[in-house]
Amino acid sequence: MSLSVQVKLPDGSTYTQPTGLFINNEFVKSIKGEKFESICPATEEPIAAVYRAYEEDVDVAVKAAREAYNTVWKETGGVQRGKLLFKLAELMEKHADELAGIEAHDSGKPKATNAIFDVEESANCMRYFGGWADKVTGKSIPLGKDKFAYTLHEPYGVCGQIIPWNYPLAMAAWKLGPALAAGNCVVLKTSEITPLSMLWLANLIKEAGFPPGVVNILSGFGKDAGARLASHEGVDKIAFTGSTATGQVIQQLASKNMKAVTLECGGKSALVIFDDADLDQAAKWAAIGIMSNQGQICTATSRIYIQDGAYDKFLQAFKAHVEEEYTSKQGCPFNDTHVVGPQISQPQYEKILSYIEIGKKEGAKLLSGGKTPASLTKGYFIEPTIFADISPDMRIANEEIFGPVVACGRFKTYEEGLKYANQTQYGLGSAVFTQDIAKAHRFASDLEAGMVWINSSNDSDIHVPFGGVKMSGVGRELGEYGLTIYTQAKAVHVNMGSKL
Ligand code: NAD
Repeated sequence: MSLSVQVKLPDGSTYTQPTGLFINNEFVKSIKGEKFESICPATEEPIAAVYRAYEEDVDVAVKAAREAYNTVWKETGGVQRGKLLFKLAELMEKHADELAGIEAHDSGKPKATNAIFDVEESANCMRYFGGWADKVTGKSIPLGKDKFAYTLHEPYGVCGQIIPWNYPLAMAAWKLGPALAAGNCVVLKTSEITPLSMLWLANLIKEAGFPPGVVNILSGFGKDAGARLASHEGVDKIAFTGSTATGQVIQQLASKNMKAVTLECGGKSALVIFDDADLDQAAKWAAIGIMSNQGQICTATSRIYIQDGAYDKFLQAFKAHVEEEYTSKQGCPFNDTHVVGPQISQPQYEKILSYIEIGKKEGAKLLSGGKTPASLTKGYFIEPTIFADISPDMRIANEEIFGPVVACGRFKTYEEGLKYANQTQYGLGSAVFTQDIAKAHRFASDLEAGMVWINSSNDSDIHVPFGGVKMSGVGRELGEYGLTIYTQAKAVHVNMGSKL
């Protein structure tokens, strides 16, 4: 039986979609032989059915990764690991158009304005960490005349990685790049909602020359395949991106063998605008901060607090900008003029609409959007939605909606703005707009967040650490910090003559 299907994209092109589990550089059927379908969110039509990994398939993949680690990868030097990552980056760039098409089809993100960017960022991420691969070094620690110590920064061995659906390629690249650069083998489980692009990328991993078993990719669900990976005693480290609730479960499952854990979880990032801000810029950045990727960004600045003196002017500019640059450019992800696609799935679509109802019932003022666009009868489309006049205790101001819905409210003083910004259980990102440089840095320091944007929103760069505090996560991805989480320090004490 063939382990691939032909898929026709909305632009008329076709490609071959692998459907097997990728273990030991081969596509294989799952042991149970069961499949599940991936749905196109723009049309609600099935795209392809892929094999579904259960616990026993995870066991096979972990065994393959362990064997690859012990026999080949452990002895593969940093220069060679780097070369493989560079090659993979090159292949991703060569096939950027195909990858972006698959990603747009499976996740609903507009191809020209979003998906291409994701592919480029993912390739850059592989190249960036490829550059680190031969620079994973420890330290020497002098300890007086007779003794010294040094550290070896060793890989963990086998890493489990679990990713969400909002950025399938990028979330995988953020994890695969540093894990492989540091010398680990990987079993990565994609989201059951968007399995397709990473299976296609598996072909490129093989073509780049990674030895069998170094990278294994499983399509499967969280409650069985994901849970097995998180609790598996043959896995030394687990890295997870997804919701806070799942992150808590992962942490518990990982405790079984005390594996190292990094978690990138949910958020409810605030964007705070002081009276003295450049309001035109604030309006544009605020729109990017919540409406990009259909609001399905963990760092989305989904709460905007505006100081009294700027409130009306900002809202007017923000509403106009959102309607002109986002609401009017919503539709099929394969139309190059579109910047807003559908939400990922029927459950997310329903959840977001229910939050819009909650917002109305709570008494927030619906300033824009709030429903399915009349012209888009198929697909999980929701209009970019702005609520104003919120009070900080409303649910829409505290709970993660994960859609194109923003809650705007006012504040009077620095202290009040800070209190509102810091009041949720999350601590992922926060943005501040002011032209007062001292105030900007003081506010950045006072914010409870893993990332702060001064006069922008949702900037992210492979060179800069990414992650949250409080219930938004543990550890940092990207940058040098993102490499560190894939190594463990071994201390070696050297006695150069101290006698007892
Ligand atoms: P999710 O938690 O439902 O699923 C994420 C992944 O975890 C999926 O692969 C899923 O199969 C797996 N999973 C689910 N239950 C599991 C279990 N019991 N054991 C092991 N694995 C399990 O999240 P989602 O709906 O895919 O993604 C949306 C969430 O992800 C949002 O809360 C968003 O904020 C968060 N997110 C965070 C970041 C970040 O970097 N902080 C980035 C992207 C998304």
